[in-house]
Amino acid sequence: MRRVIVRRSSVHGRGVFAIKPLAAGERVLQYKGEITSWRNAVRRHQREGVEGHTFLFGLSNGSVIDGSRGGNSARWLNHACAPNCETIEDQGRIFIHTLRAIEPGEELFIEYLLAIDDPPNEEVRAQYACRCAASGCRQSMLADAA
Ligand SMILES: [Zn+2]
Repeated sequence: MRRVIVRRSSVHGRGVFAIKPLAAGERVLQYKGEITSWRNAVRRHQREGVEGHTFLFGLSNGSVIDGSRGGNSARWLNHACAPNCETIEDQGRIFIHTLRAIEPGEELFIEYLLAIDDPPNEEVRAQYACRCAASGCRQSMLADAA
């Protein structure tokens, strides 16, 4: 039974929305895609990616899941600094869990905390700027942006 759909988001591009009531702590989606190296994924993104949309999800072993290859609707999850979902790594796979009950029609958000090997330059910072408008917005989707 489908519990979420992808449609246009007022925040950014497309987003993932609940179409059924979701309970807190529910496993909603798996973040699918090709597992590859950061280097390979970043090179691929620069070559054919859509600016401002990242489909990369970092794993604790240093590789990434590239949702632009074989990905599912989880790749359209938008970032928020006060998200209503979290990501849980389980044996090399990533799952999206709700942090609280979510009503039908609400958009699902995760916190990206993107780690970038090199210190981000102005261009990268601008590309990953956050405009989620939460009171505690960090203004960035990058993990170490101070
Ligand atoms: Zn924010």
